[in-house]
Amino acid sequence: MVYLSDVKYLWSMKSQIISLQQEQQSVIKFNKNFKTPNPIPEAGIKQVIKLMQKGRLYRYNFSDNFTNFPQPYELNNEDEELATEVAKLEYEFSLYTKHKYVVAVNSCGSAIFLALKASGVNVGDKILTNAFTFTAVPSSIVHAGGVPIYVECNSEYIIDLEDLKRKIEVHPDAKFFVLSHMRGHISDLDAIKKICAQAGICLIEDCAHSLGAKWNENLVGHHGEIACFSTQSYKMLNSGEGGLIATNNAEFAAYCILAAGSYEKLYKKHLARPYDDNLFEKLKPHIPNFSLRMSNLTAAVLRPQIKFLDNKISQDRSRYNQLVQILSSVRNIYIPSPLEKVKRAPDSLQFNLLGLTSEQVDRFVQQTKERGVLMQIFGRDDNSRYYKNWQYSFTETPSLEKTESIISSACDLRLSSSFNVDDINLIGYIIKDSLYKILREDDYQDYRNGLTDYFENIEEVKSKYDTWVSFYDQEHYDNGWTVLLNHVAYTLISYLKKDALILDIGCGTGLLGRELNSYGFKNLQGLDISQNSLDRLRDQGIYKALHLEKLGETLSFTDNKFDALVSTGVFTRNQVPLESFEELIRILKPGGIFAVVLRVEDDEFYYKQIKSYCDINIWKEVLKTKITVLKSCNHELVILQK
Ligand SMILES: *Cc1c(COP(=O)(O)O)cnc(C)c1O
Repeated sequence: MVYLSDVKYLWSMKSQIISLQQEQQSVIKFNKNFKTPNPIPEAGIKQVIKLMQKGRLYRYNFSDNFTNFPQPYELNNEDEELATEVAKLEYEFSLYTKHKYVVAVNSCGSAIFLALKASGVNVGDKILTNAFTFTAVPSSIVHAGGVPIYVECNSEYIIDLEDLKRKIEVHPDAKFFVLSHMRGHISDLDAIKKICAQAGICLIEDCAHSLGAKWNENLVGHHGEIACFSTQSYKMLNSGEGGLIATNNAEFAAYCILAAGSYEKLYKKHLARPYDDNLFEKLKPHIPNFSLRMSNLTAAVLRPQIKFLDNKISQDRSRYNQLVQILSSVRNIYIPSPLEKVKRAPDSLQFNLLGLTSEQVDRFVQQTKERGVLMQIFGRDDNSRYYKNWQYSFTETPSLEKTESIISSACDLRLSSSFNVDDINLIGYIIKDSLYKILREDDYQDYRNGLTDYFENIEEVKSKYDTWVSFYDQEHYDNGWTVLLNHVAYTLISYLKKDALILDIGCGTGLLGRELNSYGFKNLQGLDISQNSLDRLRDQGIYKALHLEKLGETLSFTDNKFDALVSTGVFTRNQVPLESFEELIRILKPGGIFAVVLRVEDDEFYYKQIKSYCDINIWKEVLKTKITVLKSCNHELVILQK
């Protein structure tokens, strides 16, 4: 051990602490477009051109022979010309969602409007609906003459059942409920169905953003009388504009077909309709034509997308899960979790920022935006998903405190299909980098209660860490050390495979391990001098094995064991002796990576030693970047390859 003499050497350098203002680590930006919609499959493009050449854009412009065919009609590939694109879309969509009847319209807003009219809403009727949804929902209610009664959401962005019961009690005359699966978050459907049945409430599901989501392994949209879907560009299917009504109720289906704009005998040109002509003839004179039909162009663009839908959903899920995993290391981020019976089909991510002031939340959105990561906060003045902006729907602003408090820090981030694994890593990195920088206190001290810069001997290092463990994490959030850890973990993606066997040297309370886990590195082991630190880590599942060992002494590992060694905050301030490297070299595989964070002012000490191994070709330096986090010193990440 060479502690005391090294310490003296180190302290002689204190006066040379390098100015923070020196070169900064460059700001990494994301440059793909968050708003890029999904492209239309080739088959859709070809079909649109064909339709335009023939001019057959109107949904009822198709073979009159068709009405003479046996009905119900089984569509097959040979009768290309018989039915139009819209009729075929309705038929194919009904096979996908497993509803008996489907009606295509020009938007989901129109679908909800028709669903309400079909179920008998009269002017002035009260309609229960989510306080957290998109403005199109209360707008459709108002369009149908209804008066929305808003139900609070809970922290999972779904219907607060207690508030639903309360609202039903306060408004016993509310006999309709438009349940919005906002952003694909699925409420407790069984409970809601039961509550509605007991209170005699007609349930309509707004599935605009939940196509493909499942409840108990079945597609969502079967708990209400009618389900309404959207094919607007930013939903699961993209036709610019479009909506689909799906139901098993023959009367409601007939109503929607007629009201959407099917007059005379045109209802016969529907393939996913009730085959009960008397029903149509009976209803027809009483139902206005609202002209909300879908055009053949729209349907032609949609049909091939249904074929790829399951594939898209599984890709969406993996993008979503990857980003959720990356953000899971941040304790200030809360990601709502679905109910047990739910399997979501998320094409966007929502999360809450915890413990941030409103000003910090806005700063976070602004700073991520400047780096190319686009998010919005639902509960903001110009956001159409904030109930206070729906003044057309009430005379007095409703009091919805729970929803208000949730959406005021709820971030919404679209996950474009064009984003690949690298893109998601970068988006996650930028989110964490920005957030960690905001969480760093402006007036932080580098270390308030933890280490002093002086160690008499290794026992002192050990005892300092043993005591420090209880406030270690907080201190490192406050001083921005997490910025550095996120940077190190993200950088390692370029150097290591996901299953690489990594030893975290000086794993402490697992802050770096958590960051590594979040980017998919799961094959981790931890080494530390502090028993207390290791005890805390025991049940956390961050490391697959923990080792109580002292650097500078012989380590208990076999030669060439690890694919990588990582170490932050250890080879600084003379905490470990220079001889430590000998054992690390021994346990590192040839070709393996040693990633170490040093203090720049230690360059003449640890870095000089590292370099001496480069000189004799033990390893080569593959990266050296400066990372500025603490006030009193600069750090650098050095990556060596054996
Ligand atoms: C988009 C959306 C709608 C409206 O769909 P349009 O097709 O644009 O009318 C309704 N509800 C929710 C939850 C939505 O996301």
